[in-house]
Amino acid sequence: MGVSRKFLNWYAKLAPARGYVPPPYEHVVQIGDPRLRKISETVPLDKIKTKEIQTVIQKLEYVLYKYGSVGMSAPQIGVNLRIIAMRHTSKQISQTAKESALHRGMTEVPFTVFINPQLKVVDYKKVIHTEGCESIRGFSADVPRYKEVQLTGLNQQGETTSRTFKDWAARIAQHEMDHLDGKLYTDIMDRKSLSCTCWEEVNLSQGRVVLPFTPE
Ligand SMILES: [Zn+2]
Repeated sequence: MGVSRKFLNWYAKLAPARGYVPPPYEHVVQIGDPRLRKISETVPLDKIKTKEIQTVIQKLEYVLYKYGSVGMSAPQIGVNLRIIAMRHTSKQISQTAKESALHRGMTEVPFTVFINPQLKVVDYKKVIHTEGCESIRGFSADVPRYKEVQLTGLNQQGETTSRTFKDWAARIAQHEMDHLDGKLYTDIMDRKSLSCTCWEEVNLSQGRVVLPFTPE
C-alpha cells in the first residue's frame, strides 16, 4: 500500500518548516505563482556587490544544486530580478543515455551566473526537443528553441561576461532567459506533447503516486 496523498499533505502541515519564509526561497515556485509571469527588473550595477544581491545569487546556486538542475532563474526562487544561473556537468550528462545526450547535443557547461543578461540569436535554426522545468514539476513537452545563442551580461563580481551556447546549452540559456520575461515553456510548446513524466508509474502503482515538490 502506498502512502496516501491526503496523509502526506496532512503530515506536511505538521512539519516545523510550515509557515511564511521571505524569498529568496530554498524551494522552486510553481506555475500559477504570479511571480513566474512578471517581467523581472534589471539589477542596478551599484547593487551587485551588496549582501542582498549576493544572497540571491548564493540561494540560486544552492537551489540549482539541491534540485540537480541545469538552470535556474531568480523568479523561480521568488525574486523578480534579472539573474540566472546555469551549469551542465559531465556527471549530469552521463545520467542521460549516451545516444540521447549525443542527439540533443549536450556539452559541459561550467557553473555560470548572468546578471542582466541579453540574448542574441546566432543560429536561427529551430530545434525541437523534450524539456522540463522545475516550476512545472512532473511534466515535460516538446519545445522548439534556436540552435545557437549568445548571452552577454555581468557575472557575480559585476564583470562583463559573454558566452556562446550551442544545442542543449543554447536551450538552457533560452529557457532561463524566458523566465526573466515571465514566459514558460508551456507558452511555446507543442501542446499535444505535454506529458506527465510519471504516467507509466501511475499505471504500475495503480495510481499510488505522490508528486514531490522538493528533491528526494
Ligand atoms: Zn524553468
